[in-house]
Amino acid sequence: MSSDKATILIVEDEPAIVELVSFTLRSAGWETFAVSNTADAWAFITRRMPQLVLLDWMLPDQSGLRLLSRIRGDRQFSSLPIIMLTAKSMEEDKIAGLEHGADDYVTKPFSPRELAARIKTVMRRKAPEHGQGVLTAGDIQLDPISCTVMLQNDRIDIGHAEYKLLKFFLAHPERVFSRSQLLDKVWGDHVVIEERTVDVHVLRLRKVLKHSESLIKTVRSVGYMLSEK
Ligand code: CA
Repeated sequence: MSSDKATILIVEDEPAIVELVSFTLRSAGWETFAVSNTADAWAFITRRMPQLVLLDWMLPDQSGLRLLSRIRGDRQFSSLPIIMLTAKSMEEDKIAGLEHGADDYVTKPFSPRELAARIKTVMRRKAPEHGQGVLTAGDIQLDPISCTVMLQNDRIDIGHAEYKLLKFFLAHPERVFSRSQLLDKVWGDHVVIEERTVDVHVLRLRKVLKHSESLIKTVRSVGYMLSEK
């Protein structure tokens, strides 16, 4: 079973900073990977899309800004959350970073706690399903840190796929998703499964949700949604 933790890619060539940042983020519950140049960063992103990238400005092969432009120029990655991490504190540099599509900007030296807080804010804004706050709807409570689901304060047994599906629905309430969108968002681009599989997992999910199953609505000829209405 793969980990449900959100993956953060650290692109930074100073080992001491990599160590500090990795330690801080792992303690906060994220999975981290580190690379020290833009070529390795691009290779990582295209192989395994992280949930967020921390990108240093000054890197040995190319500037982080160039990589930022490359990422933003690719439709597949255009919404990938990116925080620039840099020693530059000049206002014009900050503006350049944000103009190239960075979601936030942290100036070195920074406090690890501040960095973690910024990451949480960006993730909450851009990818609520990777946030770490408890998600709720009706009697359902999902805790992404312990990966548990409570139904009226009773912990329920839930399969991995159903858990991911529920987490996605809870993070995007009142919105209809087609089967192929759900496959894409919940299972990822690299998995080949039939759209009917989504129906099977929705069925299983409703079963474990017992009396709360009605929160997962079928929208005829479109797909599914979570709605409290
Ligand atoms: Ca550097």
